[in-house]
Amino acid sequence: MNLRNLFRRNTFEHGVHPQEHKELTSALPIRRLPFAPQLILPLSQHAGAPAVPLVKPGQEVVRGEPVARADGFVSVPMHAPATGRVEAIQLMPSARGPKTPSMLLHVYEGSGQEVLYGSTRDVQRMTPEEIMQAVQDAGMVGLGGAAFPTHVKMKPPPEHTVDTLVVNGCECEPYLTCDHRLMLEQTASLLAGIEIVMRALGVGRCMIGVEDNKLDAVAAIDRLLPADGRISVHAVQTKYPQGAEKMLIESLLGRRVPTGAFPSAVGVSVFNVGTLTAIGELLPLGRGVIERVVTVSGTGVQHPGNYLVPVGTPVRFLLQHAGATPRANELILGGPMMGMSVASLDVPVTKAVSGMVVMEENDTGAGERPVQPCIRCAWCVEACPMHLNPSTLGLLASKHEYTRMAEEFHLNDCFECGCCSYVCPANIPLVQYFRIAKAINREQAA
Ligand code: SF4
Ligand code: SF4
Repeated sequence: MNLRNLFRRNTFEHGVHPQEHKELTSALPIRRLPFAPQLILPLSQHAGAPAVPLVKPGQEVVRGEPVARADGFVSVPMHAPATGRVEAIQLMPSARGPKTPSMLLHVYEGSGQEVLYGSTRDVQRMTPEEIMQAVQDAGMVGLGGAAFPTHVKMKPPPEHTVDTLVVNGCECEPYLTCDHRLMLEQTASLLAGIEIVMRALGVGRCMIGVEDNKLDAVAAIDRLLPADGRISVHAVQTKYPQGAEKMLIESLLGRRVPTGAFPSAVGVSVFNVGTLTAIGELLPLGRGVIERVVTVSGTGVQHPGNYLVPVGTPVRFLLQHAGATPRANELILGGPMMGMSVASLDVPVTKAVSGMVVMEENDTGAGERPVQPCIRCAWCVEACPMHLNPSTLGLLASKHEYTRMAEEFHLNDCFECGCCSYVCPANIPLVQYFRIAKAINREQAA
């Protein structure tokens, strides 16, 4: 297929165009990181109930062995990323802030990369229910950053009929290129994962959306597509937040997900390329998620790259390998638009961490841009992909009118993309206000 035919200006309304900075790592192949001497495995690396430990302190485990079980349907198990001994189960710092129950694994010096647990199986012969169970058993969560248990997404509400699997290969956050490398280097696993999920969902159509700054990935996927036309790949406009599932559905299918509804309401299920690649690779081998690809980038690292990192690796260890520059002063887990700035280098890489962006002092602008009063320019309104009014929401937040924000101004439709804060000339930290408002509303509702 001619690439020109694939290139259409598929897009959504509003959004922003931050500097991409992807050139730092997009051409760097995935490299394996060695084991840290100690891994920190939070029992809650996913949305839903925390996993329940299956092992006790002092117990030896082998790489790939289940070490915690799922606690109910909306939960996933955990597997040992390395061979070693469980040291303790205790509270440890997390990227979210509060300490969280975590399993500490002392890694044996001689621990090899070979996975010692799991046995091969014929996924083709598995029923949709068996696939869903296998996906849960693998501890699979949305590896794009959401960390929502994947098997739950494979079971849409009975009142909705899903007809299309949408695959998110946009990777619209600046700096991040791990999905780009996966699409280039593990294309066959991605397509295998797509076939598995299509069977589990019972859908006959799959559309893969890739931003048009990654046409080499579009071409790599296009070369391996089956000839029957069930699966297609589409270049979508490079614009943030193209990778948000509601935006991507609008770009590819022209369907709008109603307020407060999930994509299944418009007949769609959205999966990230990282998740599908992991499913395609791990399910036939009967293995769990024990490592993931993380982009390490930013002006504050000497050796940026895409690293295959064991889950539980402390960011301090990752930073040592990437080499922090003397002026590095801010570390963000995820991308700079939606990621979290972390205060402790003892927090681990979890299944949800797609990137580690390290910035130098002058790049963060910390303390250089004072917050000014709103000048009613409406740039935030123009930028908001959810068609909200961030200016009014910001005003209400400053008056602590959080309930009104939700009831009259659709605060809960905000998915914290940060476009409004990004464009605001008055430097009002709008998205931070909205996070706080939502947290307070949640607390009051509990
Ligand atoms: S953070 Fe929320 S309000 Fe701001 S642009 Fe994004 S969706 Fe709109
Ligand atoms: S972009 Fe900032 S200054 Fe402009 S209307 Fe929105 S909140 Fe006010």
